[in-house]
Amino acid sequence: MARKKTANKAGPRRSIRCYLCGHVQDVSARTMSTTCPGCNRAIKVENVTVKSYLPVNDLQTCGEVTITKRGRVVAKRIQSGEGIICEGAMEGAVETDGPVQLGGKSSWKGQRLAGRSLVIEDGATLLGHVKIPWDRDEDASANGITK
Ligand SMILES: [Zn+2]
Repeated sequence: MARKKTANKAGPRRSIRCYLCGHVQDVSARTMSTTCPGCNRAIKVENVTVKSYLPVNDLQTCGEVTITKRGRVVAKRIQSGEGIICEGAMEGAVETDGPVQLGGKSSWKGQRLAGRSLVIEDGATLLGHVKIPWDRDEDASANGITK
């Protein structure tokens, strides 16, 4: 399919938050990736669903990350703008501006899991430091970045 650059004014928009710097911008609901005006980096916008074993350095998107029962993510960092729903296994540092949901058969192992809120079903396994609610700005100042 050819790429159309024509702006669709009537198209639905969505507000996204950059997982790298926290900058919020409006994009078309059909946008898959864009450049963040806050940090000038290319960022992924679409929702990501992991259905099998996925070894990766960084799993990053402004959208939502879903890990199904058969899904297993092994990453250094898992960053999501809109939240994470995990029914499978996650390994790596998790950071999201949205909610984190861990299903009853899910597991997470990593240095840190940081998110806006956390729902854990009975039976989920967590191993690591959990920081809920996570505040990006507070975190930045704790790391010596003052505004
Ligand atoms: Zn950014």
